[in-house]
Amino acid sequence: MRASAIAAMMPFLDVVYANPSGSHRFARLARKSVDEARDLIASIVGCKPGEVVFTGCGTESDNAAIVGVVRRRGGVAVCPAAEHHAVLHCVEHLEGRVVDVDENGAVSLAALRAALDDSVGSVSVMAVNNETGVVTDMSAVSDVVRRHAPNAVLHTDAVQAACWIDLRELWPLVDSMAISAHKFGGPKGVGALIVREGVTFEPIVLGGGQERDRRSGTHNVAGIVAMAEALRATDAERAHETVRIAMLRDRLTAGLLAIPGVRRTVPDSVSVPGVVHVCISDVESESLLYLLDEAEVCASAASACASGAMEPSHVLRAMGVGREWSAGALRLSMGHTTTEADVDRTLRVVTDAVERIRSASARLRRA
Ligand code: PLP
Repeated sequence: MRASAIAAMMPFLDVVYANPSGSHRFARLARKSVDEARDLIASIVGCKPGEVVFTGCGTESDNAAIVGVVRRRGGVAVCPAAEHHAVLHCVEHLEGRVVDVDENGAVSLAALRAALDDSVGSVSVMAVNNETGVVTDMSAVSDVVRRHAPNAVLHTDAVQAACWIDLRELWPLVDSMAISAHKFGGPKGVGALIVREGVTFEPIVLGGGQERDRRSGTHNVAGIVAMAEALRATDAERAHETVRIAMLRDRLTAGLLAIPGVRRTVPDSVSVPGVVHVCISDVESESLLYLLDEAEVCASAASACASGAMEPSHVLRAMGVGREWSAGALRLSMGHTTTEADVDRTLRVVTDAVERIRSASARLRRA
């Protein structure tokens, strides 16, 4: 977590531990802080404060925006095949339409166009893919959706976008947007759904009617305040960090590509700088991650949520990456704490691990 986000949340774990829905002085203080966090997030997104709905995570925000919208307004749900499961499983649950992606994992506009008509009630397209870092042209997506699915609510999963894309530019293109604090230096277990005034949805968490009846549950005041601070810092540093991390990305990519049999899964030109995804021939991700972990390099093969099970990722499958390459998938991600020394050490560790795995397999083949 960002140190400033930790500092921001501390008073709410201690002296201002009140429930903001109460009426006493500490409750009012907590309420004021939630309102200030809402105002701050709204100013960073460029939306109205009333359009910010605090949730428990990015997954919940996506669920509310897709399942909640379809339950309230009806219609067919649509999303591309490379979405995070927080979106994909909602659309599958609603028996919606899953559309093809291109070889980089970005939605195919032709396939999206073909899936749209008047019956579509919800379209969800992620702004940045969590596995490959590929960036969606949301302006083109918005254009196609507005033209060919006039009844659809357009949602974007911006969980991976907040670090790299100015949310003020994204927001006018969509009707709703999911963010999650732990992707930009805030705590885990808190997120927001930004939803345009007038776009109604069936709440998926029912209870005390907090968040103007859109999301019940006692506010996670500490988390909300810390999320707002983390987003403020992320927004303030974005331009500088994007350049700094792009330089680290170039160094990391060059070093990885110097290892024989390594290929970059998507070109740097279509991806955010913070994610470097490569596929390595003659190496199983499982063994590679084991050796990396031993050397304290924390990486993943697919999305972190799926990395317990070494099935080829649904994203790589949707992109048409064959088993011979997807078996050796490696995702390295960088953020505000990453340094050049981290990159150099990672390169040494990965190079050494790949060599060890390949010579062990060669020995086994000879035996
Ligand atoms: N969407 C994307 C693109 C993500 O990367 C993630 C988390 O990895 C989520 C949704 C889910 O967010 P959360 O972990 O806050 O539920």
